[in-house]
Amino acid sequence: MKADIGLIGLAVMGQNLVLNMNDHGFTVAVYNRTEKVTKDFLSGNASGRDTILGMTSLEELCRTLKRPRKIMIMVKAGMVVDSVISQLLPFLEKGDIIIDGGNSHYPDSTRRMKELSQKGILFVGSGVSGGEEGARRGPSLMPGGNPEAWPHIKEILQAISAKADGDPCCDWVGEEGAGHYVKMVHNGIEYGDMQLIGEAYQLLAEGLNLDHDKMSSIFKEWNTGALDSYLIEITGEILAFKDTDGLPLVEKIKDSAGQKGTGKWTGIAALDAGIPLTLIAEAVFSRCLSSLKDERVKASKVYAAPEKKPLSDQEAFLKDLEQALLASKLISYAQGFMLLRQAAAEFGWNLNYGAIALMWRGGCIIRSTFLGAIKTAFDDKPDLENLLQAPYFKDIIENSQAAWRRVVVQAVNWGIPLPAMSSALAFFDGYRSARLPASLLQAQRDYFGAHSYERLDKPAGEFFHTDWTGQG
Ligand code: NAP
Repeated sequence: MKADIGLIGLAVMGQNLVLNMNDHGFTVAVYNRTEKVTKDFLSGNASGRDTILGMTSLEELCRTLKRPRKIMIMVKAGMVVDSVISQLLPFLEKGDIIIDGGNSHYPDSTRRMKELSQKGILFVGSGVSGGEEGARRGPSLMPGGNPEAWPHIKEILQAISAKADGDPCCDWVGEEGAGHYVKMVHNGIEYGDMQLIGEAYQLLAEGLNLDHDKMSSIFKEWNTGALDSYLIEITGEILAFKDTDGLPLVEKIKDSAGQKGTGKWTGIAALDAGIPLTLIAEAVFSRCLSSLKDERVKASKVYAAPEKKPLSDQEAFLKDLEQALLASKLISYAQGFMLLRQAAAEFGWNLNYGAIALMWRGGCIIRSTFLGAIKTAFDDKPDLENLLQAPYFKDIIENSQAAWRRVVVQAVNWGIPLPAMSSALAFFDGYRSARLPASLLQAQRDYFGAHSYERLDKPAGEFFHTDWTGQG
């Protein structure tokens, strides 16, 4: 029996993707470095499925595949991917396809695509989002790399992906490492969404002193409106969850956030590209600050918080907070798409922004109805310069601006940190300002470093230097 696709790496993601592929009628040949894992899978989760074929070597795997061979690699990200590729190469032929579905860094995927295309092998780096459950029931898939591969793998990847209103959350992203770049930005946005929700939770808990059942019901209500999303939904459930003693479990969890590094990659990519991705960067730094737990506990004994005067109209504040969350989230996505636009220009990728919004619409951690509106905005105007210029989003910002400012002011007065929500507002105020104090900054640079400046009353590109001290 010949297999439609091969999959290497039978840890949690690999096993679930194999079962998903097999559910959709594909015969899958599987291989894992440690053979016992393959045996356990075949006799466990995959038992009774005679179209999942266990392989004991990469040579056997390659012999068993239909041509062109399609092989998905789901191993530990990093050097391991290069090692598996080099072990595979002796058994491959021109036109065969390798898909790396791990969390690889996009420059590695660009390098792998270029190296392999010289050997006639078509490489695809595909972002896979949605964790174990997504892999099993339908992940968001973001494939990019050698475009010649797409017609051969489209049917399988779109079949196994999540569907949003019937459309697959998987489409061709673009050239080279574009698939992993888009996955990286997805993860950065995930950091931002989580930080925003955390800030709302702190305002509800410490500003309004609400109990956990009330907070849970607020998130559940928000989940029926424009904020409807997976992360808001699970937050409602988490806040209602009680430990065995009947107390909310969330309060017993150490407030020190972990990170695997994809948010940091997004921030570094933004700094490299010169894009003000402020909200995601603040979200990464907030995790760093949270991890300084011992230092924070000491500082809390040195500096007292301002007195938290109760609000006269709590319900009005809750409405404001919902608006502030939505406006801030919009800024985060606008910044994310600004970064994608810059990457497309810099690397020469032909990114389809509407398709990217659809890929994130279902299956992944940031899935939300909001992404449907982003897809519509790009469908209506594919060359949209910035999401903030789309009519639907302009309306959201205009309707929520006053509420957003009230929430930030209140938080400042309470001494509750809102790094994401307040930096989003600062970005917005900068973005909508025709004039910024950069004129003074340019003067300072010219004063101490003779860096020169352009003048508003002279043609662009003409540079001037002033002798500011009159001393030559
Ligand atoms: P993982 O723990 O990242 O990797 C374990 C797999 O890699 C095992 O099959 C292991 O084989 C194999 N492996 C490790 N070193 C190897 C080597 N030197 N040579 C050959 N194989 C080697 O597995 P995972 O959590 O399923 O994730 C797979 C990929 O998907 C990763 O890149 C991960 O970042 C990405 N991802 C994970 C998630 C998630 O929710 N877990 C979500 C999206 C993407 P052995 O059994 O022989 O050790």
